[in-house]
Amino acid sequence: MKPVQCGGSETGRNWIFRNIDVAPGPTMIVFPTEQSCRENVDERIIPGLKDSPQLRTHITEKAHDLKKGTIHLRSCSIYMGWAGSPQALASRPIRYLLLDEVDKYTAWNGKEADPVNLARARLTTYKHNSKLFVLSTPTTPEGVIARGVKNCPDVREFCIRCPECQELQAPDFARLEWEGRDESEPDDIKEVGRRLGVGEIEPEYVCDRCEARIGPLAWRQAVRAGEWVSVGFPPGEHPLSREVGFRLSGLCAIPGIEGVAREWMKARIGDMGALQYFYTNILGVPFWGDAGGDPNLKVDARQIYDLATEGCRRYQVPDWATSVVMGADTAKVGHQYTIYAVGSGYQMQLLDYGECSGDEILKALDKEWTTPGGKRFKIRRVCVDLGGSNTATSTRTEDVYRLAQREPAHIWPVKGWGGNTAPSQTINTTIHSYTPPGGKRSPFDVKSSVVDVGYFKDLLAQSINQATWHPFQGIGRDFVSQMASEEKRLVETKIKPDKSRVEVWRWLPRSVGVANHYWDCTVYALVAAHMLGAGDVEPEPVTPREIEERSTWDTGRISSSWL
Ligand SMILES: [Zn+2]
Repeated sequence: MKPVQCGGSETGRNWIFRNIDVAPGPTMIVFPTEQSCRENVDERIIPGLKDSPQLRTHITEKAHDLKKGTIHLRSCSIYMGWAGSPQALASRPIRYLLLDEVDKYTAWNGKEADPVNLARARLTTYKHNSKLFVLSTPTTPEGVIARGVKNCPDVREFCIRCPECQELQAPDFARLEWEGRDESEPDDIKEVGRRLGVGEIEPEYVCDRCEARIGPLAWRQAVRAGEWVSVGFPPGEHPLSREVGFRLSGLCAIPGIEGVAREWMKARIGDMGALQYFYTNILGVPFWGDAGGDPNLKVDARQIYDLATEGCRRYQVPDWATSVVMGADTAKVGHQYTIYAVGSGYQMQLLDYGECSGDEILKALDKEWTTPGGKRFKIRRVCVDLGGSNTATSTRTEDVYRLAQREPAHIWPVKGWGGNTAPSQTINTTIHSYTPPGGKRSPFDVKSSVVDVGYFKDLLAQSINQATWHPFQGIGRDFVSQMASEEKRLVETKIKPDKSRVEVWRWLPRSVGVANHYWDCTVYALVAAHMLGAGDVEPEPVTPREIEERSTWDTGRISSSWL
């Protein structure tokens, strides 16, 4: 998953060229359209083969071997396909498959398989040494590339290295600062854009660890000294996995931080399309709409009581469950928690809630949950709030990090994103060094995720409105009032050059000081579910018998982590 113009397609072609010479096998390249396919063959692939002395030795004497659509070489053949041509994808066994700009493949005929699955099915003959390379600029969080990357057991992010403190960190657009970034009048925004363009204003990236301010030149060094880091693992360590997802931020692309800053100012005076273009094409992250989401979303106590009259009893796990997750808020002493069963489509059933200590969170991981049908679960992930300044001292942050170190695979420190603009990702996980307060103790490596709580609160409210979220029967009044403790309020109105208004809505407490722990805990449980992809599973798994009855792969039921 990458921004535009960062060498993604070039990487793909280099991979193909390497294979031709080193480990040849039948190859297929799929582009979004016939037009893009022909351009790539004529302008990139054939010149690439002819211009390299080594690759030239693989070209046969027969000129028609280089005809469009198929390239026959001495060592192997390269087949071309495009997303509108199911026949092109459905013909022969393939060892190497390259799907370029996969999010731009046109919507598929409902009866056919998704082009990714269709093309992927060609790899089965070579299943022991085949390789699939999918790349794209993202569209939405539900797009093929964003979901594909998220579902990989090993997700690697290109991290930059701070020239001052040498800390590796995932680039975060929210940490990029420049004079006039927050101007709100269209004319002022344009002026800042102009000054960025001529170099009168230079953006600076603020290091996540030492707060050094990194200017455009030093930033290029920071990128060159960067590394691919597996999310959730220290640099240099990677989980054992056959599927690896790579995320490259536009902050690391050629135009640099000054290019990104200029594009941001342009996007701010444009419409939603301009904003979408900025996030997906410039930053290379999926975009889900306006920062404020849907202003009409509401959660009230009546809805929660109504939902509590149906569904399960406390501790009862429904048969549709696929995972059990936990969300915990951090109080001055101890934690509030909620435990949920999660099923396909992120339906949620509350199993338990209450207050507990850190040790009790550890104990909860051992508890077994059983459905009436006999399926057994343990809690797969606990997202724990790192503690905010209004509810806890900074030593509570240390407590949470220490707790997570005792069960790093299951306990995941999170904090809500606090910026004024939309964060670049719904969940942004980093590994960094944490220095405990007091100054005497040595820093240690920690993992945490910054989450876009506004986005997840919208998802939760939608799920409550659609009755796919359930409390248990006889739920307590404390839980109900906390679930209904926030509402969406208009916090800002921006006037655009064409005089139209853009409203920014945020979830805020209905009254000052009202308790909202179980609402927050539920949001964190939902975040845990999304981190695991727990609700992405197919509602009705295909049984082996059903597979036999359908003709073959082209019925669209190939199981794959890509969808
Ligand atoms: Zn630094």
